[in-house]
Amino acid sequence: MTDPQKNFRFETDADGIALAVWDMPGRSMNVITEGVMEELAAIVETVATDPAIKGCVIATGKEHFSGGADLTMLQGLGRAYEALKAERGEEAAMRHFLDESRRLSLLFRRLETCGKPFAAAITGLCLGGAFELALACHHRVASDDPKTRVGLPEIKVGLFPGGGGTQRVARLMQTGDALQMLFKGEQIRPAMAKGMGLIHAVAPTAEIVERAKAWIREGGSAVAPWDVPKFKAPSGKVYSPAGMMIWPPANAIYRRETHDNYPAAKAILASVYEGLQLPMDLALKVESRYFAHILRSKEAAAMIRTLFISMGELNKGARRPKDAPASELRTVGVVGAGFMGAGVAYVTAQAGLDVVLVDQSQEAADKGKAHAHALITGQINRGRAKTADRDALLARITATSDYDALKTCDLVIEAVFEDPKVKAEVIGRVEAVIGEGAIFASNTSTLPISGLARASRRPEQFVGIHFFSPVEKMLLVEIIRGEATGDRALAVALDYVRLIKKTPIVVNDSRGFFANRCVGAYILEGHRMLAEGVPPAMIESAGRQAGMPVGPLSLNDEVALDLVFKILKATEAQVGADAVDPAQKAILAEMVEGRGRLGRKNRKGFYDYPEGAAKRLWPGLAEIQPNRLDPEAVDFAELKHRLLVVQALEAARTVGEGVVTDPREADVGSILGFGFAPFTGGALSYIDFMGPAAFVALARDLEAKHGPRFAVPDSLAVMAERGGTFYGTADKRAA
Ligand code: NAD
Repeated sequence: MTDPQKNFRFETDADGIALAVWDMPGRSMNVITEGVMEELAAIVETVATDPAIKGCVIATGKEHFSGGADLTMLQGLGRAYEALKAERGEEAAMRHFLDESRRLSLLFRRLETCGKPFAAAITGLCLGGAFELALACHHRVASDDPKTRVGLPEIKVGLFPGGGGTQRVARLMQTGDALQMLFKGEQIRPAMAKGMGLIHAVAPTAEIVERAKAWIREGGSAVAPWDVPKFKAPSGKVYSPAGMMIWPPANAIYRRETHDNYPAAKAILASVYEGLQLPMDLALKVESRYFAHILRSKEAAAMIRTLFISMGELNKGARRPKDAPASELRTVGVVGAGFMGAGVAYVTAQAGLDVVLVDQSQEAADKGKAHAHALITGQINRGRAKTADRDALLARITATSDYDALKTCDLVIEAVFEDPKVKAEVIGRVEAVIGEGAIFASNTSTLPISGLARASRRPEQFVGIHFFSPVEKMLLVEIIRGEATGDRALAVALDYVRLIKKTPIVVNDSRGFFANRCVGAYILEGHRMLAEGVPPAMIESAGRQAGMPVGPLSLNDEVALDLVFKILKATEAQVGADAVDPAQKAILAEMVEGRGRLGRKNRKGFYDYPEGAAKRLWPGLAEIQPNRLDPEAVDFAELKHRLLVVQALEAARTVGEGVVTDPREADVGSILGFGFAPFTGGALSYIDFMGPAAFVALARDLEAKHGPRFAVPDSLAVMAERGGTFYGTADKRAA
């Protein structure tokens, strides 16, 4: 081919087999862009028309094959649609939009039907649009590299595979399995992918290109299975007795899993259902129409913005002070080897850092290290780590009761008892041994950082690093900036969070910081509903149907009832009786003190946790409800609104008070920290996409009925009056 290619290297070997190596300049990962689509189209035409070329292998020049379509490009399509609609009307805009959003699908179909065989040689990640490209190839060889994964994760950002993925997957495997794969959006390992029929062969990385070439050389067919006459889908026809075993339950499962909150999931279901009744070209057209529809949905816009763009920006250090020098973290100290400290030690050692884990006694420190041993053993049992990884990990953790061992640490994180006196003593002992430049961080969940920093000799090197439990699973970390915290301490904290591959949000000091304030509001609302007499099962359903991962009572069981009660009593003592809700206090007092029900930890909370059986709501709850409402008289839609609005208002308050200064952080923090209904794009996007004026009207209505916890903060009221949004306001501030 004579055309100069930027993103692909293209060459043909002596056997007439072409190799297109995808290797985008200046990027660590290949993504599908306009330029890539154009070049790939040119490659397909060259292969199709050059009689000297027998077929073509597509491979990567990078560690990974590709992460898929450039989502910012897809976001741009949505914006272009709005602009065109304003200029030339909805019909013209829609036609243009459909044409644009179909380009990838048509390109892949052209590749599939061009008459020459294509094979994909996959190593590393091959996801989304890139895996759709591989699926359009007639043969797929994947490497056995531990990093290799294939999959269609579009659903995770509110999208669905629009490059033929829904149709090809549904023709490769049983419909039920295909739907599961598309709904879950999981990254699949090569051996599993082969078992599912998604790829044809697995080989060592160094051999995949040669294996793919060999397949072409040996006469691999250029006709996809579904283009062979009389092709039968693995599950047979949609309208058949077998089909009727699949589709009614599929609808029910969709409802159970999504509560109809995710239009992309519904589109997957419809696209597969309709597509399987049509020949491939028409089926792809159906898929494209759903894709265009989903691409314009507010759920996709919200989820792409928060879960892809904002999260990516925060992970790359959007909030890192620019002038702070890069930190050289090698050894991290963790003081307090209890529940949290042990988890922090584990994730830190997992990141390849050395850890000094200190507790009051050698025995307590060893117990913390044993927790790391147990966690990595779990990974080994699941095939995710090797015994050599465990040896290396444990060798990086020094467990001791000797504070002197901390002297080589660049950063020390304390996770001792939540008691200001104990913390002050620990701060003094640690600062007496660590070097001048070392940073001290506290993992406190309730004590203001500025107050704790008073016990420090160098408060500018003092910062909050607040983990969530379980540390090894939760992706969010709140970094708390105290009054005196300096830029370097902030930068070191952010660099550390980046090393352990979690997502940071930076918040200013305040009681409860950000996430726990919103979580507290959600739990309180559940308690209030209980006190009003709403049947407990309705409260829990309302939470889940609103999009939360669990209902408020269930969440309280996980957090522990006595902990929430203790925080309530501490707030009452420190701030005053008006700061706590009497109905909540009464319920918690009865549960904790009256009935000894502490939550999951003692298998007795709002739920019972019978041995070997699923948890179930405690039947005795009715006894502790001061009132009982007739379920028929309860406005269920209002319950759902209450549970989200109360959290969103708390998030808006944190912005009004200057605790959170960037809407991206509130949104990312709310989804990663406490699972705020992901389809909304987060607690502030929920307000922005509803329209702040409509949200304020809804909140005021709830305030009139349910009291001042639904009061709209002034900053939000003013913003709504002026027609602003959180993101619009933040953009203006940044400009
Ligand atoms: P924990 O009781 O499990 O662990 C505390 C550990 O600190 C114990 O092992 C104790 O022996 C040790 N310790 C106490 N005094 C010490 C000293 N002077 N020197 C060395 N070690 C000492 O508590 P936890 O749940 O791990 O909580 C620790 C901190 O993390 C608290 O500040 C808590 O608020 C915070 N936190 C907890 C959670 C959670 O879900 N549990 C979440 C976020 C933050």
